[in-house]
Amino acid sequence: MDKNRYRERMRKKQQQLRRRRYMRLATYAVAFVLLAVFVVRGIIFPIIDRVGGHKPDETVEVQAQVAAADPNAAVRQPLKGQGDVSKASVLTPGWHEDENGRWYQNADHTYYTGGFQEIDGVTYCFDGNGYMQTGWVTKGVKDYYFNDDGSYNPDIRRPMLALTFDDGPGEYTDGILDVLEENNAHATFFMLGQNVGLYPEVVQRMKAIGCELGSHSWDHPMTLVTIGLDSVAKQFADTDAALIEACGQASTVARAPYGEWNQDVIDTVQKPFFMWSLDSLDWKLRDVQADYDMVLNGDLTDGTIILMHDIHQASAEAIKRIVPDLVAQGYKLVTVSELAEAKGVTLQNASYSDFWDSSLANGEVAGYNMGSTDSGSDAVSDGEASSEELSDGSWEESGELSDGSEDESVYSDGQ
Ligand code: ZN
Repeated sequence: MDKNRYRERMRKKQQQLRRRRYMRLATYAVAFVLLAVFVVRGIIFPIIDRVGGHKPDETVEVQAQVAAADPNAAVRQPLKGQGDVSKASVLTPGWHEDENGRWYQNADHTYYTGGFQEIDGVTYCFDGNGYMQTGWVTKGVKDYYFNDDGSYNPDIRRPMLALTFDDGPGEYTDGILDVLEENNAHATFFMLGQNVGLYPEVVQRMKAIGCELGSHSWDHPMTLVTIGLDSVAKQFADTDAALIEACGQASTVARAPYGEWNQDVIDTVQKPFFMWSLDSLDWKLRDVQADYDMVLNGDLTDGTIILMHDIHQASAEAIKRIVPDLVAQGYKLVTVSELAEAKGVTLQNASYSDFWDSSLANGEVAGYNMGSTDSGSDAVSDGEASSEELSDGSWEESGELSDGSEDESVYSDGQ
């Protein structure tokens, strides 16, 4: 009796032990499967991505979508590249920081690189390695300002000016290019065809450092309006031929000698024509300090086109102070075509005097695509629309200047 009960108890005990062993085995099995999944997804996949740059379909697709919507938008990157080893170890979604800066980790382990990205209603910018950027960021022809916390600040804008030089190239032009290059600045040169062949290497250098090649006719006739359209056509065709011979490229923009043009002239030349909104009068002043004062004390409203001449020594000397001082004051010096692009203007065969916000808003600028600028995300372009306050003072003067300044009639630079 006792023996039987004892045997029964032992049997139950063994059964219990067996059940526990199975339970433990099952637990191990489940744990092993979970671990395997974790290892493959969390470690192996990222390593494959990092080493081989795989999953290209996914990335390309995302990039393609973004590119179609906005050229400045950030793209999602899978983990790859040596600099991302530290990022691979932190896979929780959200903001992260290391000694190089901050980045944003998405739930799918990707992060943003190379452009603008809105996160929680705030626009940020990420560099090529995926780190959040602060301060000035240049995208295309425009600069954008990002606060210390990385948020885009549409109220801080870098006003743009287009320096233009007429009647060259000449013996002082190369010195002006030195100044422009040292200050990361661009300018537009409206050249006379008859001078181009004398300074081919200067023309090549203009092109190489991002300056714009403009045509100012072959020999500065007085005036394009009266010489007949055949002569007009020849003046500009010959100049383009000389430019192509010098640097392989024709002029992209034009300026009429003495600012004397009409629509027939423009239709004949088939290029956008440029006047100016700020005349330095350097052709008359021939004085370094006076040239400097005319520009620095002039109306430097965002979108201004400044007229100077690169054939005068005083002008070339004045530029050594004008360019660095304008840059130090926060201006971005660009070519006329860059200025047009930044302001959302598709250049037409028309005449342009300035790209002030007031002129754009007033419909005075041909080819202005209101609200459809090249700019970045919605948040970024919204900011640009609120720029009316910056156009103070530009207004009253636009009327009297936009048809060429009053000096036009007495303008003579000895050509
Ligand atoms: Zn001229």
